[in-house]
Amino acid sequence: MAEARAPRVPQAPRVPLVDVAAAYHALRPELDAAIARVVRAGAFIGGPEVAAFERAFATFCGARRAVGVASGTAALHLALLALGVEPGDEVVTVAHTFAATAEAIEHARARPRFVDVDEATGGMDPKALADALDGAAAVVPVHLYGLPVDMAAILPMAGEAGVPVLEDAAQAHGAAVSVAGDERPRRVGSLGHIAAFSFFPGKNLGAFGDAGAVTSDDDELAERVARLRDHGRSGKYEHLEVGWGERLDALQAAVLGVKLAHLEAGNAVRERLADRYDQALAGVGDLAPPARPAGRRGAWYFYVVRTGQRDALRERLRGAGVEAGVHFPVPLHLQPAFRHLGYARGDLPATEAWAAECLSLPIYPELEEAQQEQVIRAIRGFFGT
Ligand SMILES: *Cc1c(COP(=O)(O)O)cnc(C)c1O
Repeated sequence: MAEARAPRVPQAPRVPLVDVAAAYHALRPELDAAIARVVRAGAFIGGPEVAAFERAFATFCGARRAVGVASGTAALHLALLALGVEPGDEVVTVAHTFAATAEAIEHARARPRFVDVDEATGGMDPKALADALDGAAAVVPVHLYGLPVDMAAILPMAGEAGVPVLEDAAQAHGAAVSVAGDERPRRVGSLGHIAAFSFFPGKNLGAFGDAGAVTSDDDELAERVARLRDHGRSGKYEHLEVGWGERLDALQAAVLGVKLAHLEAGNAVRERLADRYDQALAGVGDLAPPARPAGRRGAWYFYVVRTGQRDALRERLRGAGVEAGVHFPVPLHLQPAFRHLGYARGDLPATEAWAAECLSLPIYPELEEAQQEQVIRAIRGFFGT
């Protein structure tokens, strides 16, 4: 007779990749009060909560304007339309990113053109961009994993070609670059002509649902986004153009306002955790730590390493109660959704190498020291060091 066995119950990871519940508990009284305030006031769409958050977020980014929208995807889409991107236009971006970056280009009925990424950082490669700017309607670099792309190279190239720059800053709230001649570093969201942020719950600044924002120093661009997000309205019953229903709601704005005040401190904790990973994982196996280029300060959305044994290492971590992620396993130029663009495997070698080797490790303000040690021990154990 077969031996009776206890059923195997899958255990929840003791170290999750992101922990939105822990982020809530850390600020619970403030968040509960903000939510109650909105519910009592009964103003759920627009109103003072949204306006206050927009002002605070613009100030945080160092941009003149911020316009709250319903998601990061809406932010990208409406920013492209505000820039004047038209059906049939070409918009240059990367394939090593979340699908929304290229989807937004398709939503504007334009055509994404993918250029390769930099082997060292995974961000848009300025050398690859040089050949793609001719005739483009816009360029969308992505500050992937929170690391600003090489804007010092990209901005002058785009400027010379007369192509506007839309930053996809969905993963990089608070990341900054030092620009020659500036006294202080400049935050992402204030670097290009216009920028798109996501406040998806797991992002560095996360709402309790979908939310996003567009930032810009250009009042006209900001006004156009504000109109497009709200049915093209110029008055209550006057519609200047066909727009969308893509507003930021007041509950999300109130939650975001509370969390924004803690973002800088949270990013500083992430940076210390990154330093600890750097020390503990230096020289372990074939592991390549994330690049930290001079003059660019990351927001550490994820701590992303590269290894030729990515899938085996991820399995080992899973067994050790550690959740690691892959961002992203299939680059956009090889996704069925973008097959019509005509790309093939081998077209973007650095992008494809990143997709094959990248592994995202947990890094967030609520990650405890013991949890990080558990991640480090599991990785060192895998490589036998
Ligand atoms: C999260 C994300 C988006 C989309 O944001 P949503 O708020 O989920 O619509 C766009 N681009 C990048 C790089 C992202 O990580």
